[in-house]
Amino acid sequence: MEDCIFCKVVNKEISSNIIHEGKNVVVFSDINPKAPFHFLVVPKRHVSSILEVEKLGDSEIRELVEVISLIAKKFDMDKEGFRVVTNTGRGAGQSVNHLHFHLLGGREFGWPPG
Ligand code: 5GP
Ligand code: ZN
Repeated sequence: MEDCIFCKVVNKEISSNIIHEGKNVVVFSDINPKAPFHFLVVPKRHVSSILEVEKLGDSEIRELVEVISLIAKKFDMDKEGFRVVTNTGRGAGQSVNHLHFHLLGGREFGWPPG
């Protein structure tokens, strides 16, 4: 998808700190971290949000969820807890229209979120 910043990350057209790359999923550090660990888990295929998840195949969806668990454990976030967020739409503050899951860890998180 032209002019999509996360497609450019996936295609290595812009640099980012990629910490994991699988068949269908890439994980990289958020450029503006909100926690000691702040990773973005994205499907390589462009879909604009979770509202288009039906455009992904079962194996892509499974890999997304499994990678979140894998990376949380790899960085020891499973010990103290972590948070997974997908902001969807303007009212929730989505600023990049390529499906992504924020994986945040390394500090306490309030509830409800702001
Ligand atoms: P959203 O606001 O859509 O929920 O999340 C988008 C996230 O992408 C933000 O946390 C923002 O800091 C991050 N982001 C925006 N542009 C870039 C970029 O070029 N590289 C990286 N690594 N993160 C980005
Ligand atoms: Zn994209």
